[in-house]
Amino acid sequence: TSAHRPAATRTTCGYCGVGCSLDVVTSDGEVRAVLPARDGPVNQGHACVKGRFAHGYLTSPERLTRPLLRRDGRLEPVGWDEALGRVARGMRAAVAAGGADAVAAISSARATNEENYLVQKFLRVVIGTNNVDNCSRLCHSPSAAGLTASFGLSGGTDSFDDVERADCLLVVGANPVEAHPVVGARLMRRVLRGAKLVVADPRAVGLALHADVHLRPRPGTNVALFHGLAHVLLAEGLADEGFLRERVTGLPELTELLEDYPPDRVAAITEVPAADLIAAARLYGRALRPAIVYGLGVTEHLHGTDGVRSLANLAILRGAVGTDRGYGVNPLRGQNNVQGASDMGALPDLLPGYGKVTDPAARARVEAAWGVRVPERPGLRIPDMFAAARAGALRALWVIGEDVCATDPDANQVARALEACPLVVCNEVFLSETARRADVVLPVASWLEKDGTFVNFDRRFQRVRPAVSPPGEARSDFDVVRALADVMGVDLGCPTPADALAECARVTPVFAGLSHDRLDREGDVPWPCPDPDHPGEAKLYKERFATPDGRAHLTAAPYLPPGEQPDDDYPLVLVTGRRWAHYNSGSMTRRGGNLALDPIDFLDLHPDDALRYGVRDGAQLTVESRHGEARLVARVSEQTAPGQVFCSFHFPASGVNRLTSDHADTVTSCPEYKVTAVRVGAP
Ligand code: SF4
Repeated sequence: TSAHRPAATRTTCGYCGVGCSLDVVTSDGEVRAVLPARDGPVNQGHACVKGRFAHGYLTSPERLTRPLLRRDGRLEPVGWDEALGRVARGMRAAVAAGGADAVAAISSARATNEENYLVQKFLRVVIGTNNVDNCSRLCHSPSAAGLTASFGLSGGTDSFDDVERADCLLVVGANPVEAHPVVGARLMRRVLRGAKLVVADPRAVGLALHADVHLRPRPGTNVALFHGLAHVLLAEGLADEGFLRERVTGLPELTELLEDYPPDRVAAITEVPAADLIAAARLYGRALRPAIVYGLGVTEHLHGTDGVRSLANLAILRGAVGTDRGYGVNPLRGQNNVQGASDMGALPDLLPGYGKVTDPAARARVEAAWGVRVPERPGLRIPDMFAAARAGALRALWVIGEDVCATDPDANQVARALEACPLVVCNEVFLSETARRADVVLPVASWLEKDGTFVNFDRRFQRVRPAVSPPGEARSDFDVVRALADVMGVDLGCPTPADALAECARVTPVFAGLSHDRLDREGDVPWPCPDPDHPGEAKLYKERFATPDGRAHLTAAPYLPPGEQPDDDYPLVLVTGRRWAHYNSGSMTRRGGNLALDPIDFLDLHPDDALRYGVRDGAQLTVESRHGEARLVARVSEQTAPGQVFCSFHFPASGVNRLTSDHADTVTSCPEYKVTAVRVGAP
């Protein structure tokens, strides 16, 4: 029968933000193979070990197949009506006790655009609060804030196809060979064809082996490093004076600030030799078409937004943004749809398309479509939600597709927040660390079982299509949000994901030209896309910047130290990040063949430190910070610099985020995952 015949479904990878196009081959209702699409606009026939092979989780016996309800301290299977009824009663009780702001939701980069659109609409229409945020808070919120302040829009400035034409690549705080392998391979191909490569990263990440210059700044000193590079650009006449005159503001203030950042002083702060700093600045400054690509090593800091803006200064000084003289400033997004979750307005201060909730005109656009008044007061950010729960002010928290107890910083405090909150609801694929603590667990579909769209790291909308059905009674997040609204007596509209994107397009000028039909015909379309005949803007700011005055804004933020410094008690600096076979908390990638490729979280430490602290390769270690304790296995490696240790966060059992602190970006509250003072010892 036709069920036995193999069929292929074209979809977009649900792991990292590269957005590879994949053909998923199925028969008898199961995935048999995942093949990278040759005509994939980003991946061009390639995919990494996650997209290709990490689908064994689909048929795991641990999949959640029925809603669970906590009774007498235990989670028990129930029907959907009972589960949604409990959630609805709990949310109503929270509003009755503390007003609409006593309810909050954490939406997800793992959800589609349409699901994120519906989640934020639920909070604003059904509950009447702006208490909605998404996991970009924990990774690239400083990119959104920094790029918007410097250029006017929150996305990367150029398409990756253009970046790949650059003759000098400045790759900062990113390990694309492991975290974004298809991009890592395309960057490597460019280097093999002659592009210069400058890598700025404390670790000897894969690309660094091929770099013309590898800068290894002390963690937490990025802003000083970028100012040092800018100092050399100005001192050696490598800035584009015509561009600065015609399209830029802030040069006098920056010039004055940079007097304090000569190479020798920057070397003292960052531990990067002055000669290397000068060499890197000359490579970037003398290139005909330089490009900047960066990752979470720039954003996840106490001064992450200053880091993004100081990095953007370099492209502005060179006239390498909004012109044909370079390829701007481009963030590598960690999660598949972290760009889209924010684009859709799953943010406490911004509506779909980035209208501010404080702006009456932006509110009026959605109010006309939704038929309600949207509150003008910004809602709570994720860390503030946890603080409000611990203080008793937040009484219902809906966590959608995020394992906050495993991946958010200072995890002991997150667990306390969930314990204090009277209603915790969790949409999940597996019984995650967060779901274990929830009052209601709702089983949902994963990316291979969903219909909708994702936005990748270079602002491309692409279609997501279900290759198989979710198991048991699991439903898509889209259906769950609509069903809960129904139970609460509100018709959210948007009966299908296509209808949700159509409504979003009607209320947001930057997405007005997008629809499922168009994406089915054309494959991918970047935003801004103001009408159905517009091709979308792959390269931004050709005419003017999107700031109120139409100019790029240099920043003159001084370097300030990170939240924690190593001392006698905690002498090492912990940096966390990703490894090649796994994705975030690993709930999907650990359940299948990828587990054998990367079986545990290791703590990497330099041979000098191994000698100093008496640590053998492969030894069990206790790692302690001022916030908590984790158990890890030592891996002695020169990839990590002396005085620093590195580990991933793919195995919740190791408890890595019990170590990380609540220090966060002063502008956006993005956690400082990249600098935690720790010590190591025997278990
Ligand atoms: Fe592509 Fe990223 Fe998926 Fe790998 S994880 S296949 S690089 S989108």
